[in-house]
Amino acid sequence: MQHIIDRFISYVTIDTESDPNSNTTPSTKKQWDLANKLVEELKAIGMNDVTIDDNAYIMATLPSNVDHDVPTIGFISHFDTSPDFTGANVKPQIIRDYNGKDIVLNPEKDIVLSPDYFEDLLQYKGQTLITTDGTTLLGADDKAGITEIVTAMEYLINHPEIKHGIIKVGFTPDEEIGRGAHKFDVKKFGADWAYTMDGSQIGELEYENFNAAGATITVKGKIVHPGYAKGKMINSMYYASEFINALPNLEKPEHTEGYEGFFHLYSIEGKVEETVLKYIIRDHDKDKFEARKALMEKVTLDLNTKFESEVFDLDIKDQYYNMKEKVEPVMHIVDIAEEAMKALGIKPLIKPIRGGTDGSQLSYMGLPCPNIFAGGHNFHGRYEYVPVESIQKAVEVICKIAELTALKQ
Ligand SMILES: [Zn+2]
Repeated sequence: MQHIIDRFISYVTIDTESDPNSNTTPSTKKQWDLANKLVEELKAIGMNDVTIDDNAYIMATLPSNVDHDVPTIGFISHFDTSPDFTGANVKPQIIRDYNGKDIVLNPEKDIVLSPDYFEDLLQYKGQTLITTDGTTLLGADDKAGITEIVTAMEYLINHPEIKHGIIKVGFTPDEEIGRGAHKFDVKKFGADWAYTMDGSQIGELEYENFNAAGATITVKGKIVHPGYAKGKMINSMYYASEFINALPNLEKPEHTEGYEGFFHLYSIEGKVEETVLKYIIRDHDKDKFEARKALMEKVTLDLNTKFESEVFDLDIKDQYYNMKEKVEPVMHIVDIAEEAMKALGIKPLIKPIRGGTDGSQLSYMGLPCPNIFAGGHNFHGRYEYVPVESIQKAVEVICKIAELTALKQ
């Protein structure tokens, strides 16, 4: 267990925050610091064909140790952390034998991680938790995933009695800014399927995510001196509010859960002359997703008709799709993960992701890729924590999936 703690801490103490405003890959130079370290570590534990490309995508191979043909499977994690909260100077704290009470992260600043607010903590009573010092995020998203994959590969190398086929490992930059899969060379990776180790609590297994689109509505107004504006001024901000109110009031993130989709207005910038509304559209169901986009088009058309001019301009762009469509035809890849968890006494929590993962993009790039828990909670903020026991269990899940995949052939 100390081995896992040491490895995890050696990763989270390297700042790898990504930057959505950068056009380079990786988006920040500092991501190379951890990437280069990971390359050396993969070589040191005995992985084959360890490569890093110009964009810092890392790949490595664990050769098969059986004579028969086995599908090649992969495990993928990302080494960047979210720009939502600082990842510089992470000072992890280790809480052994957690007593189920408040954890004072930072006495000076009075920052407390409390089970009164974060009830999930209670299921880890008696376990070892790694937390922040309250001033940074932790980076368990997704350095827990990297710790798990490296540790599992090391374990399989040291235990040749566990039989497995070819295992591929992939570590990516820039997942947190939605670009982790963009430059992933699926062909070079060469796996039949893969798993991202990027979920949250122990047991999570996910193969459904949102279909996603972004919409920009530009509303044109007409500016005239307000004292002489009668019959002439068009105030784009009032028109924009008509658009907002024409969409279903309860189909918003704050009113939806489970499989319920939504329209989310996340930005308004307005003056009399022009107002720009920015939305994201989300739905697990493909038909409902298309219907949402069609509704926005209809509202635009109706309002332009009502105001007898082209006041509203709508631009919709698809962002990613539900991986379910690509995973369902190869459902055995989810079944194997589920079976692995059950064999280890872990209760699988199969539920739809209300977001996207790198795996959803990879699935559409030809690499079906469900998501498995990495163990952490409260991602992207100061209350992030991870139980070491969950990391250990994820290591075991990886090894068991490798074993089951070879057994089934
Ligand atoms: Zn992540």
